[in-house]
Amino acid sequence: KTSLPVNLSQDQLIRAEGGRLRVPDRPVIPFIEGDGSGPDIWRAARRVFDAAVEKAYGGRREIQWTEVLAGEKAFHKTGNWLPGETLEAFRACRVGIKGPLTTPVGGGIRSLNVTLRKELDLYVCQRPVRWFPGVPSPVRRPELVDMVIFRENTEDVYSGLEFEMDSPENQAFLNLLRDRFPAVYKKIRFPESTAFGIKPISKEGSQRLARAAIQWALDHHRRSVTLVHKGNIMKFTEGAFRRWGYELAESEFGERVFTRMEWDRIARLHGEETANQACQEAAEAGRLWITDVITDAAFEIALTRPTELDVIATLNLNGDYLSDALAAQVGGIGIAPGGNINYQSGAAIFEATHGTAPALANKDVANPCSVILSGEMMFRHLGWDEAADRLILGVEGAIQDRTVTADFFAMLENASLLKTSEFGDAVIRRM
Ligand code: NAD
Repeated sequence: KTSLPVNLSQDQLIRAEGGRLRVPDRPVIPFIEGDGSGPDIWRAARRVFDAAVEKAYGGRREIQWTEVLAGEKAFHKTGNWLPGETLEAFRACRVGIKGPLTTPVGGGIRSLNVTLRKELDLYVCQRPVRWFPGVPSPVRRPELVDMVIFRENTEDVYSGLEFEMDSPENQAFLNLLRDRFPAVYKKIRFPESTAFGIKPISKEGSQRLARAAIQWALDHHRRSVTLVHKGNIMKFTEGAFRRWGYELAESEFGERVFTRMEWDRIARLHGEETANQACQEAAEAGRLWITDVITDAAFEIALTRPTELDVIATLNLNGDYLSDALAAQVGGIGIAPGGNINYQSGAAIFEATHGTAPALANKDVANPCSVILSGEMMFRHLGWDEAADRLILGVEGAIQDRTVTADFFAMLENASLLKTSEFGDAVIRRM
């Protein structure tokens, strides 16, 4: 069924009331199975989700899955990569889940994922990064990694504000710089052969991202939020992101947080020792530590001192790089989940962070962990923690038993090789 929004009754819909989600016992949840290996992974994951809900609630709760189309399947059936009904269904149902989608080459759409995020204003891309015992990892102490990335999802150089070389727009932009901003123009190394891209970073966008990260960290009793930026170089965009983040932390969260800025102020007036003491007292009082690091340092810290990073709030491009690098540290993108979330409305689409892995398509061999763990995030978002806990139990159990898909099998000793569908069964048995 794809005619979803028309046939829905109100009591099947997830609603938002007073800043919280109201979730019926049998919510309709739209899904996109995805392209490439997406259908294999989705098939396994969906059975795992249903089993988790059944085990957790014994029939009292159930998800009414409804397929919506996007990507190649949508294009073949409707001639449209992202039909309007799909967006309408996500809007009406508020929470959904998806597999990976092929990025169409040409045809006016840059990326279906970026379009979905922008259309639904899902401004946080949330990616937890933790290690599951037994997962092969390239680092010696993967168990020290436990971070949650809040990546801004609607701004930055991903906004598609760029001009193609030799286009009239690019020339007009160059002329504008030359005529109106001569000092800026002078900074361009090769003006006549430059293509331009624009990096929009707003106060509103930066602060809603910082707000979501800080609120989440407080709700989940985390230790710190680190603003990750290249403000030392890009002072008025990434530097402003940092400043706006601190300003928001202090003005909106007051005594619930203790910021690096506060530390600096105390240190300037009373010395470092007093500042450290205040910091210590703040930690004992349960205040959340808000700090910042430059992006390149964040990569270094993540590898050498991973316990220094906890919740990370960052801009779109930094967040893209950082989340894949961190995912690799704990076993790769085959296991990395994600959620695109609007924390004001509760609207969200959860998704595997990897691509369509076309070489593995229709062979029942891809690792379904990333979609399963995206489902775990979805259940927590719905407040269905018992079902989420079952998923974690199942995944941990299957990996500890060394019953794994080909990607992990290749790196583990004494493991048994399972197909995607069989891995789903193994997870269900252990939950
Ligand atoms: P990819 O993530 O599909 O593959 C990268 C590598 O990881 C490949 O070796 C692949 O075999 C492996 N891999 C990925 N998922 C796996 C899994 N579940 N189990 C085992 N191994 C897995 O990235 P790509 O090849 O750069 O991109 C392929 C397509 O996916 C492109 O069209 C791209 O635009 C699209 N893409 C979509 C998304 C998304 O929908 N969120 C994200 C990234 C890329």
